[in-house]
Amino acid sequence: MTFSSQEFKQQFPLFSQEENRGLVYLDNAATTQKPACVIDAIRDFYLHSNANTHRSSHRLARRATEMVEQVRAASARFLGAQSPREVVFTRGATEGLNLLANSLCRGLVAGDEIVLSTAEHHANLVPWQMLAVQYGLVLRFVPDANGVPQIERITEVLSPRTRVVSITGGSNALGFRTDLATLRATIAATSSAATSSQRDLRWIVDGSQLAAHDVVDVAAIGCDFFVCSAHKFYGPTGIGLVYGREELLRDLPPWQGGGEMITSVDLLASDYADLPHRFEAGTSSLAAIAGLGACLEFLGKQDRQGMAQYEHTLLAYLHDRLSQIPELELLSGPRNNLGIASFVHPRCAAIDIAQWLDGRDIAVRVGHHCAQPLLHAAGHTATVRASLVAYNSREDIDRLVAGVEELVLQLDDTTVPPVAADSGKDSAEAYSWQPDDLSKLDLDALRTQQNWQDRYRTLMRWAKVISRKDHIRTTEHLVQGCESSAWLVHRREAGVHRFAIDSDSRIVKGLGALMLSQIDGVSDDAVAPSQLHQIFDELGLSQQLSESRGNGFRALVERAFELMRA
Ligand code: PMP
Repeated sequence: MTFSSQEFKQQFPLFSQEENRGLVYLDNAATTQKPACVIDAIRDFYLHSNANTHRSSHRLARRATEMVEQVRAASARFLGAQSPREVVFTRGATEGLNLLANSLCRGLVAGDEIVLSTAEHHANLVPWQMLAVQYGLVLRFVPDANGVPQIERITEVLSPRTRVVSITGGSNALGFRTDLATLRATIAATSSAATSSQRDLRWIVDGSQLAAHDVVDVAAIGCDFFVCSAHKFYGPTGIGLVYGREELLRDLPPWQGGGEMITSVDLLASDYADLPHRFEAGTSSLAAIAGLGACLEFLGKQDRQGMAQYEHTLLAYLHDRLSQIPELELLSGPRNNLGIASFVHPRCAAIDIAQWLDGRDIAVRVGHHCAQPLLHAAGHTATVRASLVAYNSREDIDRLVAGVEELVLQLDDTTVPPVAADSGKDSAEAYSWQPDDLSKLDLDALRTQQNWQDRYRTLMRWAKVISRKDHIRTTEHLVQGCESSAWLVHRREAGVHRFAIDSDSRIVKGLGALMLSQIDGVSDDAVAPSQLHQIFDELGLSQQLSESRGNGFRALVERAFELMRA
């Protein structure tokens, strides 16, 4: 078999829709696009097989039940599990991790330890934090270098009290793979040298980012549990897989209770169903399971080795091209990487880069990628993440690089570098601020511009009238609800309201300037929030800015009016 990315891409109808012809989709680590067979399978399920499973005796119910169990068997083969009884369907990786955390912690006592890493997605961190509070457990973290876990040093945090090790198979923020072979060897050595209590150590791999790129083989990995979401490997949303070794699943208490997971129910107690159904309370995502079945068949037909090789070459090209952009700081490297390039620019906030690229129909992700501890340890609050899979091409990367280069050319020395919040100045100093001079901002000029690129440029220019004000960058003045940091201050002066704003994002500064051009210097009740939202809508900014950015503007407006009313 040989792998052709072009032919592969043709199987994804989203790309051939009129509005998506020019789309460069580099947000695959968040979710991949779906091949036609997956979309068809979901439709076919509703057309031909829709019925609830297991509970009923009619023809459609039998058909749906059969389909679910066939997909379970296919999932077991996909994961390298020994039996379909080892595969539990969940709504996604997040639910899978919550299931494991809740069920595994049920038997633990105060002082028992859970080992995680700094690179975990919040889905493999927050559930453990919640349970640590509930059961008095201790969370320990694999030693790291700038946030990157040093798996070879995990023995430093393993102890006789370690009960669970739950580690990502690879970082969704920076792309690096975890050295699972070393992890396996270390855990095996610890368990074999251990007393009987230590043999209770359970090992989970969060494989969410692995499955799109690697052939998964839980037996080869050697883990006790493995979790992933179908939507990350060309399948539908709403369906995830939990693999658990059968003898371990058998001993595990169920997490959620309800229909489907019981054999009999009394008023005070119930008997649970056999594996794996006791972990699947309620109606499963049946149509999504049908889609998953089609996805597994689709993947089974691909040259997975060829795909992996192709992605590897493409990722090297992506890193090579990005590394040639002056000043751009790459936080990822091409080796041992799950298709991700993560970067920042010292003179342009990550969100401004992503917003600019969106205007060029290039989809990347920006932010902390639900991995805040890792980004903080790496010294950042947000990065731009371009993540690729096998339908991406060199042309996609050329477009991305050209987009970034074009933006960088527009930057000048007045660009504000992203700065950590709260520079710690006292509030007396915070009152020494001066409002910026907004008199030259011309709203009509913005109104007459037809396309987003021009409006973006104008807003970036407007951002320049907002001076940098380190002394207002304190927690007290931080506006909650903005994706990037924004600080807003207010005072009354000669009967009118005066404001000043600062942000680490130029586009937020531009939006802030737009807002202040309407409310700075006005008297009580001269403007209403609805007028500002109307301007925002009129300018088409609501459609163009991401939802969170739109919400950020809303948060700024709300805060401004709150300050005026205070
Ligand atoms: N873990 C990792 C490493 C992930 O990348 C993600 C999704 N970004 C999750 C867990 C959670 O997956 P889901 O949102 O599908 O539940």
